[in-house]
Amino acid sequence: MAKTKSSIVVFLECSECGRRNYTLRKRTRAQWKLELRKYCRFDRKHTTHKERKK
Ligand SMILES: [Zn+2]
Repeated sequence: MAKTKSSIVVFLECSECGRRNYTLRKRTRAQWKLELRKYCRFDRKHTTHKERKK
């Protein structure tokens, strides 16, 4: 797989248990911080997930 610098991998970390449940690719130009309501299977409910880099 060819490496490109056009996007980076970020994690979505659960704000309640701190686990990183999701990974996604984001364009490096986008500087805004992601904050999404996602389902956390450890908490068994939807919680706020915040963007974390490696
Ligand atoms: Zn959680």
